[in-house]
Amino acid sequence: MVKETAYYDILGVKPNATADEIKKAYRKLALKYHPDKNPEEPEKFKLISQAYEVLSDPKKRDIYNEGGEEAIKGGGTGGDFHNPFDIFDMFFGGGSGRRGQRGPSKGKNVVHQLQVSLEDLYNGATRKLALSKNVICDKCEGRGGKEGAVQKCTTCRGTGMQIRIHQLGPGMVQQIQTVCSECSGKGESINPKLRCKHCQGKKVIRERKILEVHIDKGMKDGENIRFAGEGDQEPGLEAGDIVIVLDEKSHEVFKRRDFDLVMTMQLDLVECLCGFHRTITTLDNRTLVITAIPGEIIKPNDIKCVMNEGMPMHRNPFEKGRLIIKFDVKFPEKIKVEQVPSLEKVLPTRKEPIIPDGAEEHDLVEFNPSEYEQQRRREVYDDDDDDDMPGGQRVQCASH
Ligand SMILES: [Zn+2]
Ligand SMILES: [Zn+2]
Repeated sequence: MVKETAYYDILGVKPNATADEIKKAYRKLALKYHPDKNPEEPEKFKLISQAYEVLSDPKKRDIYNEGGEEAIKGGGTGGDFHNPFDIFDMFFGGGSGRRGQRGPSKGKNVVHQLQVSLEDLYNGATRKLALSKNVICDKCEGRGGKEGAVQKCTTCRGTGMQIRIHQLGPGMVQQIQTVCSECSGKGESINPKLRCKHCQGKKVIRERKILEVHIDKGMKDGENIRFAGEGDQEPGLEAGDIVIVLDEKSHEVFKRRDFDLVMTMQLDLVECLCGFHRTITTLDNRTLVITAIPGEIIKPNDIKCVMNEGMPMHRNPFEKGRLIIKFDVKFPEKIKVEQVPSLEKVLPTRKEPIIPDGAEEHDLVEFNPSEYEQQRRREVYDDDDDDDMPGGQRVQCASH
């Protein structure tokens, strides 16, 4: 049991989620709520990042599970979180596009998620993706205006920040650093008369670009396809990259587990006792026939596999994993009483128990798992001085 679930709730995963599930949840949410795509909810992006930072680190996750958010923030174990943009860049392969203290050397990476089907990943595919990105304005060559139009902002002396001093009381002042209102943090101003009309002095313009994305056979969910230097352009900086992150859609029949494909097959009772032929349509539309010979019995939860019918391996697509089939058995709802003797004749004989004198006879009734829960909750509510009683004692299932 975990103390709190808030971090799990933020990522939309269960407290027993695997490291992979946590990674996938972060990936989806971080891309959705990145301020580039969703500027309205910057706080949400931060929360997602914090939750991921804790839950992706086994040590921190243990601390959180035991003591909740308080233990993480108070225990001197890194209560200070990393910058959410750093976490994001690290996750998507080192962006370094953020305006750091040292100043950026590279423009921002543009990260995009691309939904792909399991068929795409099995067969390989080419997809066209329309993106918009910043390119340097060719009319002013990224200057924002005519030669000499750009001047250092006089209000902030080019720093982009303003310091305001608040008098709180006698001898008490508070310094507040804010973004310069004159230049909105850019640190420079452009003479409106000389401003470039093409980009309105922004130095860059938005441009639509069609990218052709090649999905190789055997690629995985979460895998990155990088287009170096195709990201946002910014004057004076090396262009960032476009990073396409593959997002595998769930498939109706198959579930991927590394190189294996896993499926569940429901058999009728007659099939698991007397053999069967079944067909399976593969992800490249071939038909496989699988057979159980009469006399071979398939039990519920039995697992069998077909070699070399799993996912192709990336860069070695002729090697494939296994197709793993889990069997589920559908029993008939009812059997006619007069059919019972003929079944008894073919099935192994049953053992009759020895019933001692005075044994109590009970009827079996349908079991309702939530019934007990409801009853227990009512009891705790009714007499809460009694709630330390071991719960198990009150189960009543069979009636007299
Ligand atoms: Zn321009
Ligand atoms: Zn300014």
